[in-house]
Amino acid sequence: MAAYRVIILGGGFGGLYAARAMRNAPVELKLIDRRNFHLFQPLLYQVATGSLSPGEICAPLRGILSRQRNTQVLLGEAVDIDPHARTIQLLDGGVFPYDSLIVSTGSQTSYFGKDQWRTWAPSLKSVEEATAIRHKILYAFEAAERETDPAARAAWMTFVIVGGGTTGVELAGALGEIAGRTLKNEFRDIDPKAARILMLDAAPRLLTAYPPDLATDAEESLKHLGVSFRPGVKVVDVDGAGVSIEDEKHQRERIPTKTVLWAGGVNAGTFGRVLAERTHAATDRSGRFMVKPDLTLPGFPEIFVVGDLADIPGPDGNPLPGVAQVAMQGGAYAAKSITARVKGEAHPAAHFHYSDRGDIAVIGRAAAVARIFGWHLHGLLAWLVWLFIHLMYLVQFQNRVLVFIQWGFQYLTFSRGARLITGSAVANSVNPGPTMRNLAEE
Ligand SMILES: Cc1cc2nc3c(=O)[nH]c(=O)nc-3n(C[C@H](O)[C@H](O)[C@H](O)COP(=O)(O)OP(=O)(O)OC[C@H]3O[C@@H](n4cnc5c(N)ncnc54)[C@H](O)[C@@H]3O)c2cc1C
Repeated sequence: MAAYRVIILGGGFGGLYAARAMRNAPVELKLIDRRNFHLFQPLLYQVATGSLSPGEICAPLRGILSRQRNTQVLLGEAVDIDPHARTIQLLDGGVFPYDSLIVSTGSQTSYFGKDQWRTWAPSLKSVEEATAIRHKILYAFEAAERETDPAARAAWMTFVIVGGGTTGVELAGALGEIAGRTLKNEFRDIDPKAARILMLDAAPRLLTAYPPDLATDAEESLKHLGVSFRPGVKVVDVDGAGVSIEDEKHQRERIPTKTVLWAGGVNAGTFGRVLAERTHAATDRSGRFMVKPDLTLPGFPEIFVVGDLADIPGPDGNPLPGVAQVAMQGGAYAAKSITARVKGEAHPAAHFHYSDRGDIAVIGRAAAVARIFGWHLHGLLAWLVWLFIHLMYLVQFQNRVLVFIQWGFQYLTFSRGARLITGSAVANSVNPGPTMRNLAEE
């Protein structure tokens, strides 16, 4: 009898956990990703702020799954699907048939229809973007040191972060530490501590996904690091010289700055849009699929959509958040469903049930806020929990050891070992340059 063919698209949290959950399943499994590595996105901000190097938060998919005999890893970008013939087409023309498909291609940054802002305000979604942000931050201090015009120097010393969610908070906290601690004593004409770090959000408060008391704690901790937060403002323009904002009374203001970092919303990537077109499946405003309770698409019981690309209603009726745990549990659930089908058994759970373990945002050294199994933690305790969880979930033992050593060293010395300005020193900061243009095309 021909082997049962399963394809997983995407080796992120959803795809990788699905593949691992099928290690003993009687299937022929192909995991296809356009990258040859799994990226631990929750630590991207540490690459962007010079704490870790890209290699420490990535692990080659081939290596991770090398012992899984039923699994083949393929490098390729899915660009089309024929859901009736059950085939996937890759960018290079390769066509792969499947009996069951798990789509976990994640999300991409949304600039709310103003994609041209990406040129000036990189987001934090890939290794390339993280190193571009690192470049922008470090270059700004270098340029300020050499600038003699006070207004131009102030623009180099102003950092604006758009978005007050977890990524925005983590970026802002790390920037505050760079300015206040890491770069202390390293410049002669500027005082890095005088950097103005501003977070903006249209929402009335920080961290809207967290309980109010934890958001207030986070704002206080950020204040200590020199970060100020402006709620209730919308970004209306971004260019090479600054950002324009509008408040709730429609008052506009211009903030001159050379460094705008985008930690705003996300939407479905290109493949998600193609899948919606081909299956006529309903999607929400961000392009996420309104999946059935068993995570399949209506009319296509062999297609599962998991992770950031799926809109799964939570207990309160609102969609579950786009976080790693939702993707990992969704991937594992889809894998179990397929395995049960192949074996002709009933799935132990007809509906996907998300077990919410909580959220954590780190603000800086020994400072974090966490909601864990209903408990509200902050300060050192929350930070230790964050440390433990992130080390535990980092893929590959070698990465865990390296990151543990780096963090230990940084904790004692306030240093950041990966403070490199790579590529052309000027390209990303003075004008968009080739790197940022390429990112815009991603
Ligand atoms: C900066 C940042 C910080 C975050 N912090 C946290 C946090 O602290 N805690 C938390 O729980 N979550 C966090 N998240 C969210 C979490 O990372 C995501 O929810 C999770 O990665 C979603 O998993 P996924 O499998 O759906 O997608 P991803 O992990 O994004 O994986 C998608 C994979 O699909 C591949 N792919 C995409 N398109 C194609 C294609 N057409 N063909 C082939 N392959 C393709 C990509 O290369 C990628 O490997 C953070 C995210 C970011 C960006």
